[in-house]
Amino acid sequence: MSDGGDTSTAGPHLLVLSGPSGTGKTTVVNRLVAESPVPLRKAISATTRKPREGEQHGQDYWFLSADEFSTRRADGEFLESAEVHGSGNWYGTLKSEVDHAIEAGYWPLLEIDVQGAMSVIRQYPDAVTVFLKTPSAEVYEQRLRSRGTESEEVIQRRLQTARQELQAAEHYRYQVVNDTLDRAVAEIRQILKATAGD
Ligand code: 5GP
Repeated sequence: MSDGGDTSTAGPHLLVLSGPSGTGKTTVVNRLVAESPVPLRKAISATTRKPREGEQHGQDYWFLSADEFSTRRADGEFLESAEVHGSGNWYGTLKSEVDHAIEAGYWPLLEIDVQGAMSVIRQYPDAVTVFLKTPSAEVYEQRLRSRGTESEEVIQRRLQTARQELQAAEHYRYQVVNDTLDRAVAEIRQILKATAGD
């Protein structure tokens, strides 16, 4: 029986993937899109940063001028947008990317930073959120200290960064350690399967 207000997990979910740089996110994303147990489509983000060598407009990002980005932002075209790690560059998820994927029956995959993810979670509480961690995060302090080469100041600074990242990780539904690519991809595949089967 349906009351027409069914909010069950049937249908596409958003998959939000974040993690500190150096966690191999892009490789995981590419593998996931190729091997996902659910129909997954990467939402192409817009950015004001310049393309890197080999990057293509419409494939890696929608590369926009600062003016176009801010106009489209003011027009409400973004689901979320953020200036990422003080780079002066803006990044954002276009609503159209997410809507078109969902209309076509795909789960949109958003590879975005923590600020963006928090905003998406507020708007899509059912989003499947995954924080990808480096294996070293857990043993980081131990390693730093046992090495005995870093000054206390450097250790404290690194720990502070690691703590901030871990605090952010707590807001994600799943935390996956990217120890080996195959295992991490398998774990996320499992998460997607379980969500689809709910
Ligand atoms: P890069 O410039 O190396 O491609 O990406 C830098 C950072 O921007 C990464 O942490 C990535 O997750 C984040 N990012 C990429 N696209 C988006 C987006 O649409 N929104 C937000 N909030 N962050 C993004």
